[in-house]
Amino acid sequence: MSSQQQFDVIVVGAGIFGISTALELARRGRKVAAIDRFGSGHPATSSTGASRSIRVAYAQPFYVALALEAIEAWRRLERATGRRILHLTGQVDLGPPAFLGELARSVRAAGVRIEELQASDARRRFPELTFGPGQAGLFHAEAGTVMAEEGMRGLNETALAAGVALFQPEPVLEIVPGPRVTIRTDRRSLQADHAVIAAGPWSGPLLADIGMAQPLAPAIAQVTFLDAPSLVDRPGIAEWQSVGDGGVYGHPVPGIGYKIAFDAGAPGWRPDIEEWMPDLDEERRILEWLAQRMPNAPRRVARTQRHPWTMTPDADFIVDRRESLTLACGCSGHAFKFGPALGRLVADIVEGGETPDLLRLDRPGLRQAASPTAPIVR
Ligand SMILES: Cc1cc2nc3c(=O)[nH]c(=O)nc-3n(C[C@H](O)[C@H](O)[C@H](O)COP(=O)(O)OP(=O)(O)OC[C@H]3O[C@@H](n4cnc5c(N)ncnc54)[C@H](O)[C@@H]3O)c2cc1C
Repeated sequence: MSSQQQFDVIVVGAGIFGISTALELARRGRKVAAIDRFGSGHPATSSTGASRSIRVAYAQPFYVALALEAIEAWRRLERATGRRILHLTGQVDLGPPAFLGELARSVRAAGVRIEELQASDARRRFPELTFGPGQAGLFHAEAGTVMAEEGMRGLNETALAAGVALFQPEPVLEIVPGPRVTIRTDRRSLQADHAVIAAGPWSGPLLADIGMAQPLAPAIAQVTFLDAPSLVDRPGIAEWQSVGDGGVYGHPVPGIGYKIAFDAGAPGWRPDIEEWMPDLDEERRILEWLAQRMPNAPRRVARTQRHPWTMTPDADFIVDRRESLTLACGCSGHAFKFGPALGRLVADIVEGGETPDLLRLDRPGLRQAASPTAPIVR
């Protein structure tokens, strides 16, 4: 083992949370190392695959503001790297009128336009969609698709250029908290003033090892890409069932067509599995949904993939600091869109900034067990 290398901050895990945080801290002049077990964006991790939905329509003002910040930050990354990361075609939200009312209020309070759709108007503007009985509809333009692989590539190359020392593939084997944190892998031992634990589904075991166990429930979530070039410029969709029942989301994917998925995962995640086989029964069920809500859409499957995400009990992330450690995990299946804005948020907390109430370690929402099959009602 080589002698101990010294850093200001070590980031454990270089998924969307970790790589964005490492980049932001390096930009602020910190000497940063990021260590990743599988490699940033590897298929075993959460921050993988071609695309993710992005939307401003959240019922919680905190996420509305973070999504607006993220859109600006992704645009800056596009300009800096020449990569095309955002494909914003808007989003139609379908669901119970009361829930959509909450979304609309929170979006409008941020000064963003969101329209209530009348059924006749909706049929004309969105002929590909069929509303369900009793469903209301909303449309907002600041939404659509983040080209996730492109985003991860852009963040990685920018982080390296900003001076982040990226060690991958290399698992962290031990974290020793203290006034200087020591991080050990089988190749090296590193020390820093501060460490960020951003190991996605693997955060649970790492935190338990240092006596900081959290209610985290990793789950396997499936997405189906349709070979549907005719839908590439159409809006994304989120069909919200009654709150707590889960729903379906979808978005256009340039170069492929359209992606659709249920917004709840399945149990059974295991830490050493690097590739998850598609669940063909779930694929059949999502195609049944397609036949009902988007009856004229091509039913040709380009590919179906499964990857892990990590639920907290209340579907809000955990981003909080305890002495020389900051936790940035519990993505609850909806963190990717916030990308570089998460980096800004975590870096602020590393530097002593206040944690938003929604994300605190001592919030009431964390005082129960998390369920891997809970839907993303956020
Ligand atoms: C199928 C699917 C669809 C999704 N759809 C959306 C969407 O439409 N919109 C949206 O906003 N979000 C979406 N998400 C959620 C989003 O992708 C995740 O919230 C986000 O990627 C979580 O990133 P992370 O950095 O927390 O975890 P990860 O990306 O898993 O990163 C953790 C990293 O830690 C590393 N690691 C693990 N153990 C160790 C160790 N011991 N030492 C060092 N490194 C370690 C891993 O290799 C990994 O790279 C979706 C997720 C999935 C799976």
